[in-house]
Amino acid sequence: KDAVVCRNVGKTWSAGTSRAHEALRGIDLDVKPNEFVVFLGPSGCGKSTLLYLIAGLEEATGGSIWSFSDKVETPSPERSLIFQETSLFPWLTVWENVSFGLSIRGASRAERRAVAEEALQRVGLKAAMEKRPDELSGGMRQRVAVARALAMRPKVLLMDEPFAALDVQTRARMQDFLLDVWRDSGASVLFVTHHIDEAVALADRVVVFTARPGRIKTIVPVDLPRP
Ligand code: ADP
Ligand code: ADP
Repeated sequence: KDAVVCRNVGKTWSAGTSRAHEALRGIDLDVKPNEFVVFLGPSGCGKSTLLYLIAGLEEATGGSIWSFSDKVETPSPERSLIFQETSLFPWLTVWENVSFGLSIRGASRAERRAVAEEALQRVGLKAAMEKRPDELSGGMRQRVAVARALAMRPKVLLMDEPFAALDVQTRARMQDFLLDVWRDSGASVLFVTHHIDEAVALADRVVVFTARPGRIKTIVPVDLPRP
């Protein structure tokens, strides 16, 4: 039961009248439970596209994707996606943002608050529960985004350059933070970046994308001791 299985996955974008664009071809990929996999490669080589397909936000034009034996066809809270600048609702408090997905599931306010408190504890932001997003720094907002994902108990965390908007020092701290959260969560992480240093710092396995569709290579860092 792998966390993610891609078999012969392809994606050709067909954007209205403009020329069809083949972003991915023949991708085979297996991600183990609790594995940390980084997608590395230059801009425009299809990393985000593959992440969106695995999220179920876009449909592959070839091949199939499974997650824990379920065919991926639609988005699911089990596969939470975090973007470069994840939007939080500015009119809601931090804890209300974190628990927003649970209100759709029909949880009571007290239940939601308890789940949000626990998730915010895990990202070290319990003290900021009652604040609004615009009172937080960029790094703190991305930690809230991680807490919001964790509140849904995802099996797979999909992260599309989540720290790209942060300064270098904050990014290094966020990498340490993410590794701590990931170890406790039991989730698999698929993390997109174009920074090789970030890939090496985080990954169990780096999947390198090249500009030619269908060309991906997997690199396993040799016994990198975790800090
Ligand atoms: P990366 O994440 O590696 O920068 P993307 O997956 O964003 O690459 O993009 C891969 C290719 O697919 C690019 O040529 C991009 O322009 C194209 N593409 C991405 N999203 C869309 C879309 N929604 N419609 C049409 N083309 C797209
Ligand atoms: P990334 O920073 O991940 O490479 P982009 O900046 O390429 O992403 O794309 C941002 C958004 O625009 C994504 O939702 C992507 O699907 C969409 N997009 C990218 N390229 C195109 C395109 N050629 N036509 C339409 N939408 C696109």
